[in-house]
Amino acid sequence: MEPEKQDFIIHPIPVLKDNIIWIWVKGDQAVVVDPAISQPVISWLKENELKLTSVLQTHHHEDHIGGTEDLLEVWPSSSVIAAKRDLDRIPFQTHSVEDNEIFILLEEEIKVLEVPGHTRNHISFYLGGSKIRKMHPVLFSGDTLFGAGCGRLFEGSPSQMFNSLNRLKSLPNDTKIFCAHEYTEDNLKWAKSIYPEDSNIRSRLEKVIKQRSKGLQSLPSTILEERKSNLFFLSKNSAEFAKLRLHKDNWTN
Ligand code: ZN
Ligand code: FE
Repeated sequence: MEPEKQDFIIHPIPVLKDNIIWIWVKGDQAVVVDPAISQPVISWLKENELKLTSVLQTHHHEDHIGGTEDLLEVWPSSSVIAAKRDLDRIPFQTHSVEDNEIFILLEEEIKVLEVPGHTRNHISFYLGGSKIRKMHPVLFSGDTLFGAGCGRLFEGSPSQMFNSLNRLKSLPNDTKIFCAHEYTEDNLKWAKSIYPEDSNIRSRLEKVIKQRSKGLQSLPSTILEERKSNLFFLSKNSAEFAKLRLHKDNWTN
């Protein structure tokens, strides 16, 4: 549970090997981000007497859209928000969005950030914070930004991903990062193999190992935390980024 405010929570449902489906709840309504599968989402929403109002899709991969059509059968009036550019690959979308578009969900403004690299039409969803309500900004980063890592380059170039990460890096430091996979521990072990003495990497790894051993998620992280210990965030140019990405692709724990 993520107690931001009594009636505003973001709840993780870990599924498959390492996916996390995030459910954002406000009052009796819920928004689901990247439902890889449907059953655990349906059960959790029903147990908590919640109504699904929307599904947010960051990109077209099966481990992000696999459960959406089943959810629509249970909640047919739910909207599905996804990139207009991916209409052919996410055909059941009801609300197609473009870069920088702002829309309202559960009375909050959400901004669409196009962040290509993992796939060519990947988007992330940003909820600005509110000082009055003491709420931190929230980013649903999908497979672009992970805890201490980033997505693999399936369809984009290193420079595209480097630019996408820079875009996310410019968000406020206190932005909470909700990623679609739990990869933080593995990413930090890789980072430690490169910089064994780095204190930010070491202390974060210790913290994450503790969380994971208790069965907790390592997420959300924050932009500030990523700025300190995410090597992809720390890379200075796209050439350096490309080298790191390749190194990580070939690294085994
Ligand atoms: Zn993916
Ligand atoms: Fe994925």
